[in-house]
Amino acid sequence: MDIQRIAQKKNIIILGAGFGGSACARTLEDIRRAHPSSFQDLNIVLVDKKNYYLYTPSLYEIATTAADDAAPLALKRAVGIPIEDIVARTAIKFVQGNITYVDLGEKKISFEDGTVLSYEYLVYAIGSEPTYFGIPGVKEHAIALKWLEDAIRIRAEVKRKYDTKLSEEALAVVVGGGGPAGIEVAAELIGYVKKLNQKTGKNISCSPIIVDGGAHVLAGFDDFTVTKATARLLSVGVRIKCGFVIAHADEKAVYVKPAPPPPPAAGSAAPQEQPATEEALPYDLFIWGGGVQAASVPSGDCLIKEKRGRIETNQCLVCTPTGENLEITKKVFAIGDVACFTDPKTKRAMPGTAQVAAAEGKAVAHNIHQAIEGKPQIPFVPKASYPFVIPVGGKYAIAKIGPVRFSGFSGWIFAQLVELYYFYSVTRDLGVIRRWWRDIKIFTRND
Ligand SMILES: Cc1cc2nc3c(=O)[nH]c(=O)nc-3n(C[C@H](O)[C@H](O)[C@H](O)COP(=O)(O)OP(=O)(O)OC[C@H]3O[C@@H](n4cnc5c(N)ncnc54)[C@H](O)[C@@H]3O)c2cc1C
Repeated sequence: MDIQRIAQKKNIIILGAGFGGSACARTLEDIRRAHPSSFQDLNIVLVDKKNYYLYTPSLYEIATTAADDAAPLALKRAVGIPIEDIVARTAIKFVQGNITYVDLGEKKISFEDGTVLSYEYLVYAIGSEPTYFGIPGVKEHAIALKWLEDAIRIRAEVKRKYDTKLSEEALAVVVGGGGPAGIEVAAELIGYVKKLNQKTGKNISCSPIIVDGGAHVLAGFDDFTVTKATARLLSVGVRIKCGFVIAHADEKAVYVKPAPPPPPAAGSAAPQEQPATEEALPYDLFIWGGGVQAASVPSGDCLIKEKRGRIETNQCLVCTPTGENLEITKKVFAIGDVACFTDPKTKRAMPGTAQVAAAEGKAVAHNIHQAIEGKPQIPFVPKASYPFVIPVGGKYAIAKIGPVRFSGFSGWIFAQLVELYYFYSVTRDLGVIRRWWRDIKIFTRND
């Protein structure tokens, strides 16, 4: 991209081309087409260090696919849409680069290679990164499932460790965290190892164990989803160790101990603390799906952040400045995993999900247009609930759309349709159907 040409106009810069940033850019493009005069002096610029949009819900498939022809490039194509395809046939400009500093006073962003771009409007959409809560040994010994490279590494490690096993031995896998990513990969790994057994004639067993400090997997999900997921996990051979936290890990084992009891109710005496005995869970592969924190780009301490590093926003998704200098953030927004927007109805921060990021991205696009037109900002109104789908091994998933809940093969079909919807919504190109169909063929080879 010719930076000089970009510099000739004022820029709306969207930092991050993930779920939130891409939705924001596409919506701005729609608004620009409907109101071209509003944008005649403005560029829409999408910035990302990667050159592809990553469809994270299918990462577990990458980590576990048994397809022989699944070279890293084919795997990348299965979950990554080139940003070139997203901006094709639009006025959106894409700049690839790692942003290292945002100067909110001077309204400039700096890239690792020294390039500087100025902005008129700025949207933080840089997402999140794994957090290990300071548990000794976890960062060093676990593979977190967050990026494409992680999924490819997990797949390669499973195969490498599998190849060192004699028939009838077990492949020991410990998964830290019983959230959606943890349970998806644990359940699907069993299918991967079975497929490897079919190819090699070995009889290696694999019963991944999920460790979670909560009372059950999928904390925060409704009873229907938790019950169905637990039953499905157990039926495919996943072991669940809830009520235990990881104390530390080394190169051989993950050491767990009972989760501390919840704090006593006001007025009642605190229970006597028992010294917790640790249990060692030896592993061949340790996968971490225990949590994320906001990604960060230094901005000179000008923005208020909460304890997980998310940028606090007002109801219109405008960032909250630390000082009195409200001008600094007047045209600066945050969306998705990096943002902390408090739902006025529940008084709770919105969860970090793809749907929330995309909805916030669309809302910010409209607010930027409002600002260009000199009109007041529109508060973001989150839905009471967003649909979700959680695959749990093979062609089985648990889904919820509004009040309707379903599970099994119909849930799996829904998961595939959601993927197609996202691919189409960012590219607006029916050619994605071919890509989607090819992915299904690669990913169903374990089933
Ligand atoms: C394994 C896994 C499975 C998931 N499954 C689901 C699911 O089924 N349903 C669901 O709703 N959510 C799911 N999520 C959560 C979902 O992926 C996130 O909530 C969503 O991606 C947040 O969107 P975002 O736009 O805030 O960030 P992202 O989509 O992460 O995008 C951030 C972008 O910013 C870029 N970036 C970051 N820092 C810089 C920098 N310094 N310079 C340049 N570029 C930068 C990154 O490269 C990235 O492209 C899953 C997450 C994981 C890890």
